[in-house]
Amino acid sequence: MTTPRIYLSPPELTGNELGMLGAAIASGWIAPLGPHVDAFEAETARRVEMPHALALSSGTAALHLALLVLGVGRGDTVWTSTLTFAATSNAIAYTGAAPVFVDSDRASWNLDPGLVVDALDRAARTNTLPKALVGVDLYGQCADWEPIIAACRRHGVWIVEDAAEALGASYHGKPAGSLGDLATLSFNGNKIITTSGGGMLLGTHKAWLDRARHLATQAREPVRHYEHKDIGYNYRLSNLLAAVGRAQLADLDRRVEARRTIQARYVAALGSRPGWSFMPEASFGRATHWLSCAVIDSAAAGETRDDVIERLAAAEIEARPVWKPLHLQPAFSGAQTLGGEVAAQLFRDGICLPSGSSLTAADQDRVIAAIATTPALRRRA
Ligand SMILES: *Cc1c(COP(=O)(O)O)cnc(C)c1O
Repeated sequence: MTTPRIYLSPPELTGNELGMLGAAIASGWIAPLGPHVDAFEAETARRVEMPHALALSSGTAALHLALLVLGVGRGDTVWTSTLTFAATSNAIAYTGAAPVFVDSDRASWNLDPGLVVDALDRAARTNTLPKALVGVDLYGQCADWEPIIAACRRHGVWIVEDAAEALGASYHGKPAGSLGDLATLSFNGNKIITTSGGGMLLGTHKAWLDRARHLATQAREPVRHYEHKDIGYNYRLSNLLAAVGRAQLADLDRRVEARRTIQARYVAALGSRPGWSFMPEASFGRATHWLSCAVIDSAAAGETRDDVIERLAAAEIEARPVWKPLHLQPAFSGAQTLGGEVAAQLFRDGICLPSGSSLTAADQDRVIAAIATTPALRRRA
């Protein structure tokens, strides 16, 4: 008998998708717009407590449009987290602006607020302020936004919250996705809810969202013939996928609880292993633990992060390193970086463990056993 593979964060269906999708098809709304798109936007906006929302083909498209509606372009700089998925700064690069990568703090693994505040004050004195800051809520945990927002407001820097990994999390009681001027979500297959591929732009100002909607539909002017004053994009989400997204969104609370339970079981079983420390949950918020992550101090653990990943792979279990910081990526070589040592260390030692909301306790026990049995094996060897 072959052992079924355990994946890092596979998509989970609720059972309601097919019904919603069937109804969407029966209604004849196959075109990329329709009532499910409108409803998905309204339901997500309500959930995230942002007044306006725009459903899009990906989280990356949402980031790109967020920057465009803020007027970001060539000659501008945009500050962002170095410890994130490349999509965050790819979107900055699409606009022609230059990313500046900012290090993490150890308390949340997100933007170091002290570093951001000091560096913005310094940039104001040298007239090198960024046009915008794109802060990431990493692995389901919000950044420490209050000091960052206050500094951005003081210096007139726009704030984009990349909440792709944090739908369902909160910061001082406010939902992830409600904290910036604009926010972005992803519904990629590995995220907490999925449309198989999709994203959402949320914002405080209707004019921004109207502009984004225009750009996302090839910038077609509202006249009979095809008239275009701007270069547009084909970035809208289809009505069929929005139907899937609505079924998924209705299940969000359960998924948050499932992922938090998974993290708690990992911490209980592995948290006191020599050299292991799990990503901390900062006191300012409630994380979803979209992925359960830990750092492994190889000197204390007697094995490296890669040893653990390889052993899990041999047991048909998928685990991954923490994101490789963007300031270490060849694609962004030469970009300015503020700090970077914390993120580099989190990458060197950090592991992401299987965390999908459909992970059963028995499967999680398999992961835990595969990790926990090694020292004994080693001793025998
Ligand atoms: C997934 C992700 C994105 C991109 O979303 P897509 O829908 O895959 O384009 C952006 N930022 C972060 C932090 C992500 O994890």
